[in-house]
Amino acid sequence: MTLSSIPLTTADVQIAAGGRRNFTLLCAPVMGESVDQMLGQIRKAKEQGADLVEVRLDFLKSFSPKQDLEVLLKQSALPTLVTYRPKWEGGQYEGDDSRRLDALRVAVESGADYVDVELQVAHEFFSSIHGKKPEKVKIIVSSHNYQNTPSSEELGNLVARIQATGADIVKIATTALDISDCAHIFQVLAHSQVPTIAIAMGERGLISRILAAKYGGFLTFGAIEAGVVSAPGQPSIKDLLDLYNLRQLGPDTKVHGVIGKPIGHSKSPHLYNAAFKSVNFNGIYLPLLVDSVANFINAYSSPDFVGYSYTIPHKEDGLRCCDEVDPIAKAIGAISQMIRRPTDGKLIGYNVDYLGAIAAIEEALRASNGASPATISPLAGKLFVVIGAGGAGKALAYGGMEKGARVVVANRTYEKAKELASKVGGQAITLAELENFHPEDGMVLANTTSVGMKPNIDLTPLSKKALSRYRLVFDAIYTPKLTRLLQEAQECGAIPVYGTEMFINQAFVQFERFTGYPAPKQLIRDALAKST
Ligand code: NAP
Repeated sequence: MTLSSIPLTTADVQIAAGGRRNFTLLCAPVMGESVDQMLGQIRKAKEQGADLVEVRLDFLKSFSPKQDLEVLLKQSALPTLVTYRPKWEGGQYEGDDSRRLDALRVAVESGADYVDVELQVAHEFFSSIHGKKPEKVKIIVSSHNYQNTPSSEELGNLVARIQATGADIVKIATTALDISDCAHIFQVLAHSQVPTIAIAMGERGLISRILAAKYGGFLTFGAIEAGVVSAPGQPSIKDLLDLYNLRQLGPDTKVHGVIGKPIGHSKSPHLYNAAFKSVNFNGIYLPLLVDSVANFINAYSSPDFVGYSYTIPHKEDGLRCCDEVDPIAKAIGAISQMIRRPTDGKLIGYNVDYLGAIAAIEEALRASNGASPATISPLAGKLFVVIGAGGAGKALAYGGMEKGARVVVANRTYEKAKELASKVGGQAITLAELENFHPEDGMVLANTTSVGMKPNIDLTPLSKKALSRYRLVFDAIYTPKLTRLLQEAQECGAIPVYGTEMFINQAFVQFERFTGYPAPKQLIRDALAKST
């Protein structure tokens, strides 16, 4: 396979791939220990949809440059980028550097499409291949920073230094210590005059790898097998193509995401990306691992960053970063969604959690009551016990109050329970008191703590003995769907109401706010079922 079969202009790309909206290449690192293993990995990369492979020579257990490169480059099912990364730049090769550069020269002469050489040795390498480089071979000059991500200005200077070596393609890889570091990478891509690969490594750099396609990165890396990566934070080819719809991203794609910490468990990207695609909405929805909401909001003030969902532990901080807040969200003191108003760029906060949860509880009570009139909430007059006083706890407590329930709040930090209870005209109790709390029968319980959430699925916020006093038990947790709390509630004869129902109901509302389209409800249900 040769480079000529890779589309190189936007027009070619669109023709080649039926509506592909960017020309960022998807490159799969191959890290086999033998040439045969590498060829097998290259075939897999092709099947999965990669455009080219990075052959990491430093992973080979034994290596004879002339013979091995000839076989690899001739038999490769995809165009090749040859890299022989030394230990001093984060690779595996520990031997003599002149032998390493000899091997890279062999790669140049043997028909690699791209050869990667580190900035530190680039001048020496270029002098040695002067006049001998076939026209079609492009040299990538790379610089890796495993400590941090310098400022945009410093990165701009680094790009200039790399360009000055005579590089055909510039590559910089930095380490994201905060998600806002990716904004420096986007600046570099947006301003670069030469083909540029720019990536922030690590969990906090994930969005730089995905949005490379929006900002015109020359390529982004995708792992053939999830977790088997050549650099920290690398997503799989499958996720890039199927979950994030990489080929559909363009300069005008609007960016959305869920802001939380941790965020890896979130199913939201599965739901919203599938839903966006189903209505041809030009948007992407990312998991956003955010340490400081204020830093994130300041770093991504561009009009293309248009909407976020908020989850643990940022719902209250999110509210503080809004320009305007919807009255319910203000009363609750937490937001679950933030939208950038297109007319003036202002950030507006909403809380849609309570809508989803209360609707799910009412529905289940109605179904069990038989014929209660739709105008009166079946929660009216009920004793409604909320465990937790965080974002979801506040939403449930305010929702209960709105529906005329008598609200009781139990929380690990008792002070917070007291504060919330007083706001909703309810009663506060401690978690210890909750164990023996039984003033009447027919009570409704809502867990809004994260106790029992993946990976701690053996935990539960209330003993089974105490659960037997409730008519209905709702759990806000939706990973897993059937928590230990709900399993035990069911065993005690209570009606279980799943967090997935709260999630689905509020997802419909959020989707409509993000896109302006009616929510594809069945598709969202199916996507959630598939991903839980
Ligand atoms: P949050 O604001 O951080 O609040 C967490 C609450 O859990 C606080 O009340 C906290 O008590 C309590 N808590 C945490 N660890 C605890 C422990 N080990 N023992 C006892 N209490 C503990 O979080 P949130 O946004 O409200 O989310 C809470 C849960 O609801 C999460 O599992 C989240 O996934 C889920 N949720 C689900 C949906 C949905 O659509 N289904 C929507 C929103 C949230 P302290 O005050 O003492 O710290």
